[in-house]
Amino acid sequence: MEILSPQQIRESFVNCSRSEAEELPLPPGLHEVDWARREYLGWRDPRLPQRGYVVIPTADGPVGIVLRASEASMRSHAPSMCGWCQDVHLTNDVWFWSARRAGQPGRNGDTVGTLVCGAFECSANVRRTPPPSYVGFDADRVAEDRVSGLADRARRFAATVVGARI
Ligand SMILES: [Zn+2]
Repeated sequence: MEILSPQQIRESFVNCSRSEAEELPLPPGLHEVDWARREYLGWRDPRLPQRGYVVIPTADGPVGIVLRASEASMRSHAPSMCGWCQDVHLTNDVWFWSARRAGQPGRNGDTVGTLVCGAFECSANVRRTPPPSYVGFDADRVAEDRVSGLADRARRFAATVVGARI
């Protein structure tokens, strides 16, 4: 994804008030982010364990979304698959996150939910070299497909939150 400034990150949020967006904690280590190897930016709130933030690049610019993790999913360590990176190695916690939709639907209480890695490590997951599983297995091709699949699925979630037709 393209480099975003702290101000661009704050301005991208679609499902919270302007003042909430001005006050939310920025991602830790923002100056060290390897943007070329990230399909979205995701981080947790250091003070509110159930609160997460993602910024997803879309054709209409970056879309920032405030997420809330369900307590049940944080407590349960039953393996689930992340809906975005679809990592099947199950080494990390995957939580059910919900997002208030942008605009009037969100003010009416409408939310959308998705299962996503609890620490938002999807970009690292899709770049882990998968073990060759059969003769003729093209690892580079598989890695590329995984990266573009992640970008696609995150973008689709952003479109649902914004209420765009996809
Ligand atoms: Zn993931």
